[in-house]
Amino acid sequence: MTVDLRSDTVTKPSQAMRAAMAAADVGDDVYGEDPEINALEAEAAALFGHEAALFVPTGTMGNQIGVALHAAPGDEVLCDIGAHLLAYERGGSAAFFGITSRTIVTADGICDPAAYEAQVREGDWHTVGTRVLQVENTHNRGGGRVQPLAALRGLRRVADDAGIAVHCDGARIWNAHVASGVPLHAYGQLFDTVSVCLSKGLGAPVGSLLISTADRMGRARVLRGRMGGAMRQAGVLAAAGRYALKNNLERLAQDHARARRLADALVPYGLVDPAQVQTNLVMINLPAPRPDAATVARAAAEAGVLVSAMDERRVRLVTHLDVSDDDVDVAIKVLTGILT
Ligand SMILES: *Cc1c(COP(=O)(O)O)cnc(C)c1O
Repeated sequence: MTVDLRSDTVTKPSQAMRAAMAAADVGDDVYGEDPEINALEAEAAALFGHEAALFVPTGTMGNQIGVALHAAPGDEVLCDIGAHLLAYERGGSAAFFGITSRTIVTADGICDPAAYEAQVREGDWHTVGTRVLQVENTHNRGGGRVQPLAALRGLRRVADDAGIAVHCDGARIWNAHVASGVPLHAYGQLFDTVSVCLSKGLGAPVGSLLISTADRMGRARVLRGRMGGAMRQAGVLAAAGRYALKNNLERLAQDHARARRLADALVPYGLVDPAQVQTNLVMINLPAPRPDAATVARAAAEAGVLVSAMDERRVRLVTHLDVSDDDVDVAIKVLTGILT
């Protein structure tokens, strides 16, 4: 038996989700005729208190289009140094849209409005103009930390003062919502655009949404087509997403509890900072003379527990709907065996 804690992207659709996919009524979404996609987009927009949403194949595409709605070639996005947008999107916003980026250095990805404010530039004949502030909630490289609501409100004020936009990478905003109790529409009102993933903890096989105004989503539809992301009878995928939103959202609390149990078992050995564990991610810190992350990941894999080497000296564990309490017990045994 393998316990797969590499990511919440490894979840497989359940039988019930597959049944919903099989039963989906579909149409050609390029003609706007896929009923499942239309319903999913309307439901997602309503959840966040926005007018419209656009179904996209990946969170990466959602983020790329999201920032491109606010920034023209040569304009700038300001984001955290650990942002997925910069770390894992293969330079997409620069490669496709000519958007430059500047970063704010944080240890844990927690949004600091004053740090953004200090960096915002209006732009003129000589300098680059900042057009969009980007924030990630929860923050992946920050260890699944939930952005404090006060910080997000502060960020909104900075953007409003400068007359620019805020884009949220909400791949795991579901986890932030469940952990903090902050309603999704309360998050939604703080962002001009938000991208969300159905394929992480919610357990759908494929799919993300970009959410904003109807006008912006009209423009986003053009950009999605240009990027080759306009799909046809993709309602089979949207049906999985609708099933996930209905059935797998509140259960994220179980993933959080299991992550907490994993963390609690490792804290006594100084491997995990308990304050950092707020959702379904657990970061194991491996300062020398402990073995490095790749070594730990290899040893754990040999014992049937898959983990991610996040950095040279940091391992990431992720709980998700295919990880049971028994799996957590196995993981604790294997990891404490290797590390203590
Ligand atoms: C997974 C993820 C995304 C999007 O990833 P895709 O694989 O492109 O769907 C974006 N942001 C964060 C923080 C993520 O974890």
